[in-house]
Amino acid sequence: MEFSLPCECGADVAVGAGSAGTMVDCACGRELSVPSLAVLREAAGLTSYEIAPEAKILGMLERGELPARTCVDCGRTESPVLPLFANCEQAHSSESSGGGGLAAIGVAAIVAGWFDSALFRADDRGAVVSHGRVTDVPVPTSLCVACRSAYDFKQRDFGLTWIGKLLLIGAVILLPLYGIVGAGLAAGSFSAFAIRSAITARRQRRLKSLVEKTPIYAELLARFPDATIVPSDT
Ligand SMILES: [Zn+2]
Ligand SMILES: [Zn+2]
Repeated sequence: MEFSLPCECGADVAVGAGSAGTMVDCACGRELSVPSLAVLREAAGLTSYEIAPEAKILGMLERGELPARTCVDCGRTESPVLPLFANCEQAHSSESSGGGGLAAIGVAAIVAGWFDSALFRADDRGAVVSHGRVTDVPVPTSLCVACRSAYDFKQRDFGLTWIGKLLLIGAVILLPLYGIVGAGLAAGSFSAFAIRSAITARRQRRLKSLVEKTPIYAELLARFPDATIVPSDT
């Protein structure tokens, strides 16, 4: 948002929040020092701190301002509310190891377990909570029955996790004996994991696009771009 800073010349200089604490030039040639964001906000009649979207959401839910009962897709009134949650992980400690699995093909069980937890359980609520420092923000969203069928709320992996694991174990067993067969199985295994990963990512994109139709939820997701949308009890 823009704030206005009065200059001695009588002009008001528009400054963004990002200019707080810096110097700006007025058209008259004077240099103005921009106060801190807290001072700018107070001068504009706002609270001196910005309320985090997650706190705003909780307040709106408490006051009954959310969720609107109109379907976010078609606007039908009295639509059922989906109990969705946004997992806003604040510490991204476990994301640095991406791609490390290729080198570890020899330890099938460990690798399979790693793939499972690192890539695919990410939208399993229990698994994410165990990382700690997770904010589960309720983002209930109204969607009528007709529009609901366009979304995939159930996690389906078509057995790809097990196929990937079995191929990987087979690869490890066969690699020393029949190199080419083992390598083929390994490639198949990684394909299975990659396909599952793509399915999961696509489903997340759809769920996010749904949640983002409520402006305050969009603000939350802008603040936590890695958030995972989790349907509760579906
Ligand atoms: Zn001026
Ligand atoms: Zn609808």
